[in-house]
Amino acid sequence: MSIQSLIEIYVTLALGALLALWFFSEMRRRRFGPTHSEDRVFRCVQCGFVYTDDADVDRSRCSQCGKLNEPIVF
Ligand SMILES: [Zn+2]
Repeated sequence: MSIQSLIEIYVTLALGALLALWFFSEMRRRRFGPTHSEDRVFRCVQCGFVYTDDADVDRSRCSQCGKLNEPIVF
């Protein structure tokens, strides 16, 4: 094995590590970024109360009458 190929392997590994680091930071940014800022909007079909809840919940209970509601899709 020559010095040339050793350097090539080293550069490839370094680039791969950088790419993996970028990929994981991007994944973390996407996972924690929008989920906290973008709440889902719910509108109660029973009493008409409009409220927000976390984006990761599919159905949310109305705080006024307790009915489960689907989120409003814009
Ligand atoms: Zn309600």
